[in-house]
Order: sequence, then C-alpha cells, then structure tokens
Amino acid sequence: MHQSSETSSEVKICIHRGSNQIGGSCVEIECEGKRIIIDMGTPLDADEETQSLVPDIKGLKEGDSSILGLIVSHPHKDHYGLIKFASPEIPVYIGEKAYKIIETTSIFVPNAAVEIPNKHFYEDKKPFVIGSTSKGEIKITPFLVDHSAFDSYALLIEIAEKKILYSGDFRCHGRKGILSKILPKNKLLKNLDLVLLEGSSFGRLDKDLQFPKEDELENTFAEEFRKTKGLALVHCSSQNIDRITSIYHACKKSGRKLVVDLYQASVLRTCYNMSRPLFPEAVLYVPNKQRGTVVKKNLFDMMHEYSKPRIYIEEIVKSPEKYTILFREIHIADFEKFSELFENSRFFYSMWNGYWKEDSNYYKKAREFVEKYNLEKIDIHTSGHASIADLKKYVEMLNSPKIVPIHTFYPQSYSEIFKNVEIHQDGEWFTV
Ligand SMILES: [Zn+2]
Ligand SMILES: [Zn+2]
Repeated sequence: MHQSSETSSEVKICIHRGSNQIGGSCVEIECEGKRIIIDMGTPLDADEETQSLVPDIKGLKEGDSSILGLIVSHPHKDHYGLIKFASPEIPVYIGEKAYKIIETTSIFVPNAAVEIPNKHFYEDKKPFVIGSTSKGEIKITPFLVDHSAFDSYALLIEIAEKKILYSGDFRCHGRKGILSKILPKNKLLKNLDLVLLEGSSFGRLDKDLQFPKEDELENTFAEEFRKTKGLALVHCSSQNIDRITSIYHACKKSGRKLVVDLYQASVLRTCYNMSRPLFPEAVLYVPNKQRGTVVKKNLFDMMHEYSKPRIYIEEIVKSPEKYTILFREIHIADFEKFSELFENSRFFYSMWNGYWKEDSNYYKKAREFVEKYNLEKIDIHTSGHASIADLKKYVEMLNSPKIVPIHTFYPQSYSEIFKNVEIHQDGEWFTV
C-alpha cells in the first residue's frame, strides 16, 4: 500500500505490475504527495478485465486530486486496458492517434471498449507540465518510438530535479526503427537518474541474435503470395500498422489486392492521412457480422465513405488468386458457405506464436478453422520488441543511469547485459 512522505522531496517509484511479467504494466511515481501513474494495462493472462485486477493505488477508483495524471504510453491493451476502472476525474494523457485507435476498437470490439472522458493529447517531443513540487514543475516529454502499435512513446519524467525515462515498449527493427535508435542521443536524456527499461526479448531471443526487419518481411510475404494459387488469408493484429503496410506492399509486388474489413479500414484511416480512407489499392469487404454492427451503431456514413471500392464475397470466390485478405474470426461464417474457396488457399499467421497456443476462444476458433479446411499455415512474423543486442546499444548510449527491469519475465537476466541494474518487485516502493 502507498506510503506517502509529504514532507520529503524524495522521488519514489512503485511498479504495481510489470516487474516480472510482460503485460499489465502500471507504475506510480510520487514526490511530496503528488502522484503520476504511467500505464494501466490488462495482464496478458487475464481472460477479462475485472475490478479485481486494478492495482492498489489510493484514490484511483474514487478520484483523488493528488493523482495529477495517468499517462498512457501506447494503444496496446496491456498498457491501457484497465483505465476504464479509474475515476473519470483523473486526467489521462495520450497520443491523439493512439486515442483514436482505442476509440475505433471500442466501436467494433465491444468487450475491449474503454472510454476516456478526461483526455489530453500529447505530442512527440513537446514537453507538458502536469503539476509542481517545491523543487519546480513536474514535466513530461514524450518521444515517438518504433513499436508494433502505432503512436507509441517513451516518456521522460522530470520531477524534483530527478530525470526518469520510461522506455515504453519499443524496437529498432521496424519501419521507424531509427527513432528508437537515435533516442538515447537526445540531449534531453543526458544525465538520467533512472530508466524503467522493457525487456520482452529476454528468454525469447539469444543475446547475440536479431529479429528480422519489417521490410524483410515484406519480401517474404510477396514471395509466398506469388506461390499461393488461391486466396491468401493473413491473420495479424488490426493495429499493427507497420505489418499491414508490409502486407499491402507485398500485395502490390505480387499483383494482389488487399481486402480489409470496416474495422481495419477505420483504423487505417485514423493512422494515415485523413483524406485517404484506405490504401489506394485496398478494397473493403464487410463481413455479415460487421453489417450487424453497422446497423446497430448507425455506421452507414462510415461504410459509405470507405466503400470505394467495395467487394463482395462472390467476386473473391470467382478469382481468389487475385486477393489477400486480412482475416479475422468474424469472416469464418461468411467464407464457410463457399468451402471450395479453401482448396488452394493458404493461411499466413503473422503474430507472436505464443498467442496461437493460447486457450482463448478467439484463437481456438482460428485453429479449428485452419484444421477443418486443412489449410497450410505459414508463419511470417517479427517481434514488436527490441532484441537484447539493440537494448544493449540503447543503454550504452545513456550515461550509466540505474536500470530497473519492467515488462519482462527475466529481470534477473538484465545484469548479464547492463551495469547498474536494480531489481524491484511489484508493489515495492523505492527511491530514485
Ligand atoms: Zn506491452
Ligand atoms: Zn506494446
């Protein structure tokens, strides 16, 4: 439980969740009784979001003016999913596109719905002040980084003459990899006191190896699409815009059209130029289940806007070799009426393999579908997280701050790679 020290100007941190797991990150920073919360995610192993998962933070549910703000690093549920249980009085700071992705997801995936009434948008490299201590302003500077979620940030927190960097989730091998690579050189990050550093790759990748680059994936997809005689079904996260961009380019290289549903179209519209609803050569297919959402939520204007061009299942069935579809569970019912479609089709799985083995209903349905139609499953994926070698370079560029592990299953492995590592447990308060 929180131990406030209102008379001291010490800066204290508590990792409420994330010191020894990937997902569900939540960090509280306190000085003179003023508090900031960074991320409030759903643990990856949680079946659903419940009140009982909410970290024990005083005043979080009821509202408390000593909580100056809740800062969301990026729009992955393991970083924002539990915000719905926080008091609407607490200001939430988030990137604008990140917010819009969450808003769109709430329309199409109701069980993932999160409302954020008291929101404030921050921007890349634009510092904002959220309060003060006797030693001056409390300032936050977001830095756009490369990650598998669009609009992801590292956060610099300057409080009572201390400088803390929250790395957020990041990688160096995606389309914006250079942003993560040059970040530690930024002059604002000189003389950091402490870095809360993500380490998802510990235990997943040998310390000397690298993940494939996102643009290498593009070529692999193009090659495999060329080899596919029927429909190419690709299963990937609707929010992984880097990946969808790779798939779109691979479609162009292999002479296929990319088929997206309405949810995907609106996510793409959010992320890209607002005047260009879709990639120019992508086509919209609205699955039956989604038509229900259109009627229920009165989304006819949205559908009309994205329907240029629109495609119907009969056309796909006629020439499946011309298309690649971003395939989700909601397509299954429509496609099963045309089982001949699957004779030469191939299923591309483009997510972390750990999810495929999961017991969740969602993956069970996808697995059953692939088995039922005896589809060849091809894995093409790269991680959303920095390799250990890239983490090492990142830390080497910083001026020996304390490194505190977060978002990792292997905090004890950090000291094999970095100097000055301090391991803290969930719920433990420590001084910067
Ligand atoms: Zn994460
Ligand atoms: Zn993430």
